[in-house]
Amino acid sequence: MNLIIFGPPGAGKGTQSKFIARKFNLHQLSTGELLRREISNNTKLGSDISSVINAGELVSNETVSDLIEKFISNNIYKNRLIFDGYPRNLNQARNLDKLLKKYDQKIDLVLRLSVKLETIKTRILERKNQESRADDNEEIAIKRYKTYEKSTEPVIDYYKNSNLLNVVNGEASIDEISNEISGIIEGIKGWLWMITQYKYAGNLNSFNIWLV
Ligand code: AMP
Repeated sequence: MNLIIFGPPGAGKGTQSKFIARKFNLHQLSTGELLRREISNNTKLGSDISSVINAGELVSNETVSDLIEKFISNNIYKNRLIFDGYPRNLNQARNLDKLLKKYDQKIDLVLRLSVKLETIKTRILERKNQESRADDNEEIAIKRYKTYEKSTEPVIDYYKNSNLLNVVNGEASIDEISNEISGIIEGIKGWLWMITQYKYAGNLNSFNIWLV
């Protein structure tokens, strides 16, 4: 299964993605972490993007697309990806569809962590002390929240029609959120398993047996 996790900066996307990856043997593909790694490794790309990231703005679509294609095209990660931080705008959402189609995959679940701006400010200041990220201060946090509202919220509508979207209360405790997400994923996995069995069985009789 491939899934996308949406949420404003500080909503707990990273924490929950790591939990899901461990529990369901998936791979967390965090574009923010990949980009920050370029900066800390002092690569050419890193020096090109550091001012953009530190200003709370979005890196170019092409740059991020190249990064994620390396994972989507790799068989090790086939149907095992958690997209954490991608897509961030409508062009990226369309690009993701295109890339997944190219490598014969799709999105099975979209999660949205909803959190208020006040909670975000508190969490980002806490995280600044723990992780010392250059883009974690109140002013940039507000900027990143606004970028999220403007560019990323419309992307969520893009997935609404597909019935893949599940909204999770991101104000709850980490464990409560993890439990809720686990329940959602177990449900989807059950469905995916049933559909696969149905396809392989190739006749209606076997499908009826599972429904009984
Ligand atoms: P995150 O760790 O997801 O909060 O991302 C940190 C920063 O990396 C963002 O504020 C952006 O500057 C950049 N970034 C991460 N993902 C993307 C993306 N999909 N498109 C453009 N910029 C991104």
